[in-house]
Amino acid sequence: MFITAHAAVTVTVATTLGVDQPAATFVLGWLLHYFGDALPHGDESLGEWAKRGRVPAIRIGLMCLIDLAALSVALLWCQSQGVLTPAVWAAIVGSAVPDLLVGLELVLGKPITGPLAWLHEAVHRSINFVYSPWIGVPLQVILAGVLWWLIGR
Ligand SMILES: [Zn+2]
Repeated sequence: MFITAHAAVTVTVATTLGVDQPAATFVLGWLLHYFGDALPHGDESLGEWAKRGRVPAIRIGLMCLIDLAALSVALLWCQSQGVLTPAVWAAIVGSAVPDLLVGLELVLGKPITGPLAWLHEAVHRSINFVYSPWIGVPLQVILAGVLWWLIGR
C-alpha cells in the first residue's frame, strides 16, 4: 500500500479516536501500517515489477516519487485547511516507518530490522488474495483522496 494511503488511514483513525499527541499518533501510524498491508491492496505486483528491473532503484525510486508527490498534495491541502498539526506530521511519519525500514535494508543490502522485516512480509501474505494494480492503485487513489479531503474539511 502506498504511504499516501497509509497516512490517510492513520490520520483518519487518529482524528476519529481523538488522538492528538504526536508520540501516540506516531505509534498508531506504525501499527496501522501492518493492518493496512494485511488487506489485499492490489499493488503487490508493482513491488515485484520494480525489483525485476535492470536497475531496481530506478523503478522503486519512481514509485516513491509518485507517492511522495501525492502525499505532498495531501499535505498542502491539510496546510491550506489549517489541520497540519504536529500530531498529523507524526502520524504520517509513523505510518511510513515499516516501508522506510524496508527501503533502508534495500539500500544497505543487508537485513537490519530482524523481526520487523519478517512481520512486514508476513502481513502482506496473511490474506492470500492478489489482484491487479489496475484495480488496486485506483482504489488506493480514491480511498486516499476521499480520506484526505475529509481530513481537511
Ligand atoms: Zn508496507
